[in-house]
Amino acid sequence: MAGEDLTEKVVNLCKRRGFVFPSAEIYGGFRSTYDYGPLGVLMLRNVKESWWRSMVQMRDDIVGIDAAILSSPKIWEASGHLAGFTDPLVDCRKCKERWRADQIGDTCPNCGSADLTEARAFNLMFKTFVGPVEDEASVAYLRPETAQGMFVNFLNVLQTSRKKPPFGIAQMGKSFRNEITPGNFVFRTREFEQMELEYFVPPQESGKWFEYWCGERLRWYVDLGIPEDKLRLRPHDPDELSHYSVGTADVEFDYPWGWGELEGIAQRTDFDLGRHSEHSGVRLEYFDQASGDRYTPFVVEPAAGATRAMMAFLLAAYDEDVVGGEERTVLRLSHRLAPYKVAVLPLSRKEPLVELSRKVLSELQPHWQCDYDETQSIGRRYRRQDEIGTPLAVTVDFDSLEDRAVTVRDRDSTEQVRVPIDDLVSEMRGRLTLQ
Ligand code: ATP
Repeated sequence: MAGEDLTEKVVNLCKRRGFVFPSAEIYGGFRSTYDYGPLGVLMLRNVKESWWRSMVQMRDDIVGIDAAILSSPKIWEASGHLAGFTDPLVDCRKCKERWRADQIGDTCPNCGSADLTEARAFNLMFKTFVGPVEDEASVAYLRPETAQGMFVNFLNVLQTSRKKPPFGIAQMGKSFRNEITPGNFVFRTREFEQMELEYFVPPQESGKWFEYWCGERLRWYVDLGIPEDKLRLRPHDPDELSHYSVGTADVEFDYPWGWGELEGIAQRTDFDLGRHSEHSGVRLEYFDQASGDRYTPFVVEPAAGATRAMMAFLLAAYDEDVVGGEERTVLRLSHRLAPYKVAVLPLSRKEPLVELSRKVLSELQPHWQCDYDETQSIGRRYRRQDEIGTPLAVTVDFDSLEDRAVTVRDRDSTEQVRVPIDDLVSEMRGRLTLQ
């Protein structure tokens, strides 16, 4: 499928089925902002839950935090964001459009004019005022990344969790950047969600852990269903590196418009802890009681976007095929990411089928997020579930009243098997790959 086609199809599906809506649509939308609908909120939670599971739940060397979005502006002074978190902005003198100088050539992509202003640094942080007085002393910023919340809590976490390097702090949540040119649906928005890990290591081990996290993070996307040939690890050229990094690699995805970043993995050295130590006057170090060593750990940071990852998972999962001579759209989402794991579908809206179907539903609901749908023909309902990626459908028919069994249909193969209601939960558990 051609690239533009695929993006358009996924964006349409998102709108039509309730994954993602343009924000404030009844007012004509609002500057590339989006709202997550009933299915989108489930899928985004599943993306974040899968990240948390692999980064925190399945490990004993990483703990989580949830830091404030609005916090002291001193953080951004120390981190270098106030001075340096900028993109080069140019204006087209002819059509008045604004562009990121590093993303365009010498001419305006809108009107083709070469009459562009000199690039000037534009700070991407959203500024606001805290409290009732709007003066310089009350200025604060919405966080442009979650990372700093982990650095400023380094000592709190170290002391309360009793971890020692190598150990990590993980966080997911909203970040805000006043991007000059948001776009490509939820790939680049001004409000988005990040999933970041700061992994603190003895300085001499930084390179080793960088390699380790590059491998781990790439594998996470593959495990969740992105084909390996749609992913690559791209090391940054030396002139691309951020001011704090001695080595960065991006996990990139083959988007319909070309390769682009999914996640950045950076060796941040002791830059952040060092800067916050300097600016706060509090020594952010690790003291090893056994050896008597005191040092500032180095940091390896895998920084991913939850909303951007969700888009990549949707693009990779979108498929069209022909089943029984009929075309269908199917989202081949990993079971972990699918909004609903099971759909319960009574063959007819008549009693006592509905009563039995609701009983089946209530047996499944404590285990999995389920959908219940009794409208339209069964064929159309199957296709609706295929289109939103539901791995399994359970059909309750008139025979079910006699044989106490239901039909289980698989999204990918469309195969159907008869399963006794009493065995349904264990049958589903066996079929769903959630571990
Ligand atoms: P880009 O080069 O695409 O602007 P970045 O290198 O500035 O991204 P990081 O600061 O490394 O991004 O942020 C880590 C991750 O956060 C990115 O890999 C991406 O997944 C996500 N992210 C960053 N900016 C945005 C945005 N404006 N919208 C959606 N996700 C974003």
